[in-house]
Amino acid sequence: MEMKRVLGAVAAGILACGLAHAQQPLRPPVPAIAGLPAGARAAAASIDPERIRAHVRFLSLDLLEGRGPGKRGAELAAEYIATQFALDGVKPAGDNGSYFQRVPLIAVHTIEDKTKFSFVPASGQAVDLAYGAEIVSKDQTGQATADLDAPIVFVGYGIRAPEYGWDDYVGADGKVIDLKGKIALMIVNEPPSNDDKFFKGKALTYYGRWTYKYEEAARHGAVGVLIIHRTDLASYGWEVVRNSQAIEKSYLEGDPDATLRAAAWIQHDTAQRLFTLAGLGDLDKAIDQAGKAFHAVELSVRLRAHVESRVRHYVSANVIGRVEGASAANQAVLYTAHYDHLGIDPDAKGDGIYNGAADNGTGCGILLEMARAFAQSPVRPPHAVYFSAVTAEEQGLLGSQFLGMHPPVPAGEIALDLNYDMLLPIGVPRSVNLGGAERLDFWRTVVRVAKAFDLALEPDPTPLAGHYFRSDHFSLARVGIPAFSVDQGELFEGHDEAWGRAQDEDYVAHHYHQPSDEYRADWDFRGNAKLAQFGFVLGWLASAQPKPVEWLAGDEFEGARKASRGR
Ligand SMILES: [Zn+2]
Repeated sequence: MEMKRVLGAVAAGILACGLAHAQQPLRPPVPAIAGLPAGARAAAASIDPERIRAHVRFLSLDLLEGRGPGKRGAELAAEYIATQFALDGVKPAGDNGSYFQRVPLIAVHTIEDKTKFSFVPASGQAVDLAYGAEIVSKDQTGQATADLDAPIVFVGYGIRAPEYGWDDYVGADGKVIDLKGKIALMIVNEPPSNDDKFFKGKALTYYGRWTYKYEEAARHGAVGVLIIHRTDLASYGWEVVRNSQAIEKSYLEGDPDATLRAAAWIQHDTAQRLFTLAGLGDLDKAIDQAGKAFHAVELSVRLRAHVESRVRHYVSANVIGRVEGASAANQAVLYTAHYDHLGIDPDAKGDGIYNGAADNGTGCGILLEMARAFAQSPVRPPHAVYFSAVTAEEQGLLGSQFLGMHPPVPAGEIALDLNYDMLLPIGVPRSVNLGGAERLDFWRTVVRVAKAFDLALEPDPTPLAGHYFRSDHFSLARVGIPAFSVDQGELFEGHDEAWGRAQDEDYVAHHYHQPSDEYRADWDFRGNAKLAQFGFVLGWLASAQPKPVEWLAGDEFEGARKASRGR
């Protein structure tokens, strides 16, 4: 799981779980559901919590060294997953008849004391910026040095959203501004809104994410981006930006969306200095105005930069398997879960192995057991089903991004992607969080199946945080594939929601992205099995639909779906 996105729970109440566990039937029942053949129901019912446990235990052993991508531990994990696929009769669907899809990556580290940025006004002295305190930057191309001297263009929020009638790249003359070889200056986040029809009201859309901003500016030909940080708009302080840029950042090698020589953030007061140099007055006023109506404007100030980077090339792999369907026609279903984690911290005192048992041993255990159930089902699924354990999620959803760019069948032929990421094995959930599922015309089926499984649908507890863009399903949505993650909510059998929430908070505080995210023998995997069964049924029904699943009209991914289907 990338960044601070946490559901489910752990730790306290373990004794109670253990006792309840002994009294319950091991395999959760699968309800009868209209459209689901008896054979498929039997296959779903074969999903076994104890098999999921065995996978999670193995994948989170110290022996696997935290599964850092490009490292020995991640290779062992990938080989283990491929071996399980082979034993269960899941066919290879990676490169050249293998289970592995090679993912070439680069890790870039900016050498701070050799990197220099300055603002150069039309007349007068250049202003040198303090790297770290005022600006941080990455060269996305993985070249060792970059020298820039380019005009700065203010593009408001840097958003082009035709569905909201919004384009920050249009100048006062009504023409799209020329950004080729220039630097795009833009505000973090998106225009503030209380109107659900305008940037989805208070919720964060993808347009507000910095990843989108970099991509859009690069599409316009920019060589650099300066994102203006302001704590209230970012919802995190400058220190977070600075610290996250102080370490190396990975990119897909040759990523067509990562071409910026300077993908940079500038601190708010530094941006004000730039505004003053350019004679543009008060920055906060300009930010206010840019949320209402905006025209791009070229500044009289240039950015001059010398950037030096230390670059490391490495390779990791997505593991992909396939179960054949009854028909060759094209409504494949895809299941994903990332298998990488944070590796080993060589400087740690004491335990430095990030075992990643919950994050994301659990998703992998679910994926493997679901793949087995499909492969051994007495009836064939309607169409092919693909299972992909993806790499480099913790580096920024990179394995899934590569999978989206190179899917095992064309994106337009994939009916649905269901992703599993970090489901704490603490009992049987009675609620689920399926953020993004409501954006699909498949939603009515989702509601019906959830009801049959006695799963209440929980709304996203923090829509402003943009969770939808922080897990691997998003990489598939970007190329148009209807996609969401299956997560447990806060309500569990035998407990109230406050209990579930308390477990969450304990996990976040004490285990999330820490070496203590370790396998526990007293974990109860019936919940993992229940949500695997739930996802099994959803995938089967999506594949069985007479018409493909679609995004609702006007959704931000509708265009990508149409493009993937050649419409
Ligand atoms: Zn994580």
